[in-house]
Amino acid sequence: MQWENLTSYDFETAVKTCEKVAILTIGVIESHASHLPLGTDMFTAHHIACEAAKKEPIIVFPQYPYSINHETAHLPGGVVIKRDVAFALLENICDEMHRNGIEKIILLSGHGGNRYFLPLFVQTLPEKSKPYTVYVANLPIKQEDVEMIEHKEYGHAGELETSMILHIHKDLVKMDQIPPKTFSNQNRNAPVAKAGGYSQVDWYAMYPHMYVGNAHKATAEKGEQIFEANIRYLIKLIQEVKADQIAPALIEEFNQRQRQPKSPDFWTEE
Ligand SMILES: [Zn+2]
Repeated sequence: MQWENLTSYDFETAVKTCEKVAILTIGVIESHASHLPLGTDMFTAHHIACEAAKKEPIIVFPQYPYSINHETAHLPGGVVIKRDVAFALLENICDEMHRNGIEKIILLSGHGGNRYFLPLFVQTLPEKSKPYTVYVANLPIKQEDVEMIEHKEYGHAGELETSMILHIHKDLVKMDQIPPKTFSNQNRNAPVAKAGGYSQVDWYAMYPHMYVGNAHKATAEKGEQIFEANIRYLIKLIQEVKADQIAPALIEEFNQRQRQPKSPDFWTEE
């Protein structure tokens, strides 16, 4: 059920029905080549959550496009949220969810550029002894789930993502504006990357046009299959999160112990 569609009166019942679990889907507003909408990542993640919620009740927070996409600032229409604001706003939202009765929050990103942001956000929650549990969703998508994708490079704005938007927002895809040629990894960072180095222009060094591969073979049917796999994995994760009593108990224990650090007895404790 979608948070913004509930009445205030019905909200408390919804929290009980969903076993105090909610999901926040996170995207960005950024360039997706010349043919996909700026809100692509926000749309895909939110659709996965809303469809999963029909099978496994969970409160789905409204569409949220405020995360980390500094690598898009050179192209029109991108909205870059300052680093400190992105962290503070996400913390604010999680606090508000908890104030409204939510004890477990799942973060589902539709944007690859959040691969460091969300784990770092969760990793640093003990700093403020947050009493609620936050899980980052890393859905275990396998090769067989995307084998219908024909082009071997299919990331940002490519065949996979274009197929997904064709399935949910066909009217927003400009098929006649797909770039005429394939855009492959420019690998400008390869020497340093192979030696284990990462810099703030890694993505720009690889894909400066924010377009990966070739989207001409994208279809709504392929998109539907990809969504189905994501929805299936998310339902499983929601079920596991609802059943999880270990993380909440360990968070409580850890928050207490970190106030007075004390060495364990290595000889008697297990
Ligand atoms: Zn995207």
